[in-house]
Amino acid sequence: MEKAVRAIKRADKIAVLTGAGMSVESGIAPFRGEDGLWKKFDPQEYASLSAFNRDPEKSWELFRIQIEECLGAEPHEGHYSLVELEDHGLNAVVTQNVDSLHQKAGNEKVLELHGSLAELFCSSCNSREGTEDHLDEIVEGDIPHCGCGSMFRPDVVLFGEPLPRNVLSVSQREAEEADLLITVGTSAVVQPAASIPTLAKRTGSVLIEINPERTPLTPRVDHFLKGKAGEKLPELVEQIRD
Ligand code: NAD
Ligand code: ZN
Repeated sequence: MEKAVRAIKRADKIAVLTGAGMSVESGIAPFRGEDGLWKKFDPQEYASLSAFNRDPEKSWELFRIQIEECLGAEPHEGHYSLVELEDHGLNAVVTQNVDSLHQKAGNEKVLELHGSLAELFCSSCNSREGTEDHLDEIVEGDIPHCGCGSMFRPDVVLFGEPLPRNVLSVSQREAEEADLLITVGTSAVVQPAASIPTLAKRTGSVLIEINPERTPLTPRVDHFLKGKAGEKLPELVEQIRD
């Protein structure tokens, strides 16, 4: 911990990469955990592009639950610590999460690699609308439709879809330019998001990892802080403040 604190104090430009583990303490279950959602809904069967094209009503069964869960969630102490870290050099939060919790907490620059549940997207006419504006019908079990008559979908990256190219390239640049990268709550195995720590390392960044479990990334990081996001991030920021 002390070494990680010293490294952060020395760094001019910091980037953060978060995954599903960042949101666990806000009550949102990750894919691989023991908890409910993803045991009931096989992601390939509900959240892939081919599944959506085949049977959008079925995909919406999952989207509805995710939207209710994520839009109703609140940031925890760890999210607010990342807002404070902006006063100490944090430049960008790159996230694989689709729950908008970093924005809700107040981070300035959030790069959403997998899109966001807060927006709906029409693949017929490419228009986007806020999910919040259609929440009543979604909660009642209806599927929201675009003005052009087509069905909306959440503006998230489905399995089998590429990542938004611009967001990915800006995130990769942030990783390259950062002299320190903190990864939080990601097993860092899902490509191309997993390339972010690799790029950072190759360009000489110090790597800090926060996770209650070891991951495939752990042997390559400089400082592994074993623990939960909602505990380790506030601890880090408190010590940087002193
Ligand atoms: P993942 O494989 O990256 O697993 C989550 C990681 O978080 C694990 O390494 C786990 O040890 C760690 N973790 C668990 N509790 C934690 C805590 N309290 N603090 C810090 N770390 C903790 O992610 P996944 O669940 O397999 O998801 C894969 C993809 O799906 C990612 O893109 C992910 O972001 C997305 N997803 C997003 C959300 C969301 O938006 N909240 C939820 C589920 C999945
Ligand atoms: Zn449309």
